[in-house]
Amino acid sequence: MSGHQARLDAIKAVIDYKPISAPLNFSETPTGELFGANVFSTSVMKQRLPKSVYKSLLKTIHAGAALDLSVADVVASAMKDWAIEKGATHYAHVFYPLTGRTAEKHDSFLSPSDNGGALAEFSGAQLIQGEPDGSSFPTGGIRATFEARGYTAWDVTSPAYILENPNGTTLCIPTAFVSWSGEALDKKTPLLRSMKAINVQAQRVLKLFGATDGAMVTATAGPEQEYFLIDRNFYYARPDLMTAGRTLFGAPSAKGQQFDDHYFGAIPERVLACMLEAEHELFKLGVPVKTRHNEVAPAQYEIAPIFENANVATDHQQLLMLTLDRVAQKYGLACLTHEKPFAGINGSGKHVNFSMGSATQGNLLEPGDTPHENARFLVFCAAVIRAVSVNAKLLRAIVASAGNDHRLGANEAPPAIISIFLGDQLNDVFEQIARHGEATSSKESGTLTIGVDTIPPLPKHSGDRNRTSPFAFTGNKFEFRAVASNQSIAGPLMILNTIVAESLDYVATRLENSTGDFNAAVQALLKEIITEHGTIIFNGDGYSDAWHKEAEFKRGLPNLRTTFDALPALVSEEAVELFTKYGVMSERETESRYEVYMEQYVNTVTVEARLTAEIAKTLIYPTAVRYQGELAGAAANLKAVGIEPDMTILNDLTAAVTGLQQSVARLEKLIAHEGHDLPSEAKHMRDAMLPAMLDVRGYADELEGLVADDLWPLPTYQEMLFIK
Ligand code: ADP
Ligand code: MG
Repeated sequence: MSGHQARLDAIKAVIDYKPISAPLNFSETPTGELFGANVFSTSVMKQRLPKSVYKSLLKTIHAGAALDLSVADVVASAMKDWAIEKGATHYAHVFYPLTGRTAEKHDSFLSPSDNGGALAEFSGAQLIQGEPDGSSFPTGGIRATFEARGYTAWDVTSPAYILENPNGTTLCIPTAFVSWSGEALDKKTPLLRSMKAINVQAQRVLKLFGATDGAMVTATAGPEQEYFLIDRNFYYARPDLMTAGRTLFGAPSAKGQQFDDHYFGAIPERVLACMLEAEHELFKLGVPVKTRHNEVAPAQYEIAPIFENANVATDHQQLLMLTLDRVAQKYGLACLTHEKPFAGINGSGKHVNFSMGSATQGNLLEPGDTPHENARFLVFCAAVIRAVSVNAKLLRAIVASAGNDHRLGANEAPPAIISIFLGDQLNDVFEQIARHGEATSSKESGTLTIGVDTIPPLPKHSGDRNRTSPFAFTGNKFEFRAVASNQSIAGPLMILNTIVAESLDYVATRLENSTGDFNAAVQALLKEIITEHGTIIFNGDGYSDAWHKEAEFKRGLPNLRTTFDALPALVSEEAVELFTKYGVMSERETESRYEVYMEQYVNTVTVEARLTAEIAKTLIYPTAVRYQGELAGAAANLKAVGIEPDMTILNDLTAAVTGLQQSVARLEKLIAHEGHDLPSEAKHMRDAMLPAMLDVRGYADELEGLVADDLWPLPTYQEMLFIK
């Protein structure tokens, strides 16, 4: 095989690959025993805590009661004993800063004792509160360095767990991360507040339907994670993948995904082995991973857990991404969670399935079999439709990132236009509600205006599926598909909870204030909502040009293609009011998020631009010039012996080399540009930097098709995607 040495070495390493650890034996420890083995779960609590303490904790976990701080010492001591039995030497407060990643600070259990020895200690105070030096986390101006204190606070509703390492284990405690003045510096705090808001409002609606037991309504989430696995040797030979998470160069391979032969295909052995071990680890951590399969693009896969309460699901999602990354390394693979690691083939998203329910009422977006449940379902469903319609821009804003811009707004599903797919069945029901409410004298009206009671039972699976909608009803939940694969799901869930809470508030207020027949009031409200917000419903192909035109010109739906366009909605007057009203975020907290996310966008593109210039100059240009020299030499030699050389390739190459040089020079000028404020810098990224990077890439990719393969320095798309 031909190829530059780095590529040859990478390929050889792939061929010679041997697993670094012994295979797992699932029959040794059945999965049932494995599941949650490293979790300080409620059943462990039950075994190890005094009954009163256990009961008090359960009240906080399952019913949202305030945490009784007096139990902390007892819990801490039990937790420590349990952890030490499992080999733990340290504990860590785990938190979720605005970077979207997971952060942790480890402390040893040991403290020196009077007699020169050491004691394992872990007090209630240490469990409840930690003080990591928070000064280096992005805060969007909430906290100046002189007030750098950040506190982590135990989140009792997300279970503590043991993180294993070959050299020891650590007790990990999920926490919220706040400033000394109590402002949220993290993703968890607003999410928890939004969970509270949705519960309060859902209770009011449930009460109207006769459910008065007050069982806590929790938002539920089941995130499907898409990712790529490629051989690690290729990854290390690609500075762009390593540093930016995506390829900034690379001509398309002759074969892409056009045969649709990867989707749900047989999983390659090494990849499957890696998945099995990742799942094995996740089981121990109590993450209920359920499905795995090949995705559409070559080397792309998906993993999805069973849904859980949105807060726990979010923490588990973070663990899932970390685990995939860690285990992939063991198998000589690199896990790419970037939204668009490779141009020209599908990118990755995270489909966040969302619903809400309680222990006594079940899933509130379950259509159910009886008319009464249907009416309640339709009210909750209409509340979600209204929420999405009123806050489409907010939903778009919260999934905005430099990486996700390559999916949304580019030529990929879902589009940046937020719309809702209901499916034929449900769509028909809502259409009937809209129509029959008006046509009181028509024949049909006899069946539907009597009351929602007469709507027929709805089948759980509303038939067809649709893959292009950003927000789809899928049987008994909504699936928010615009979420970025590399993003924490805390933000999207916080927004969903808040906007649905607002909508439930609206619905409850209307129904509480209505006099007369309840069914008639429900019917009228549903009709009003669907008439006012029906424009958000679209059951067709979200990918088509026709839809883009219709959405924009006929329906007036926003199409915010880039992060720069989308983010301002997060700090609109309405958004700030919404977050404040439901106690989810203060104005300062909201603004800080806008700042941090905009800055992330600018930083990401800046790093990509620098990498583009660097790789073009130090890897691609030298290669091209070397080959140019070879061709020129050959041409001169031919001329010397009286043969007229064909100059086509040399001419093309020379043109591309010149183009590369000039485009890099332009890019470097843009990199040196100093913006005066964040928005203008972000605009500079969108309008100047990203197009200039594409220019450079255009010439480089052309050169890849011209230069002799044995000189080309970067692993090719073909190699990365198809050598497994
Ligand atoms: P589909 O194939 O239609 O996407 P799945 O059954 O595969 O449906 O579910 C996809 C994800 O949706 C899974 O993570 C699943 O646990 C989750 N899910 C199912 N019910 C709910 C619910 N009530 N709330 C949140 N997520 C849910
Ligand atoms: Mg799905």
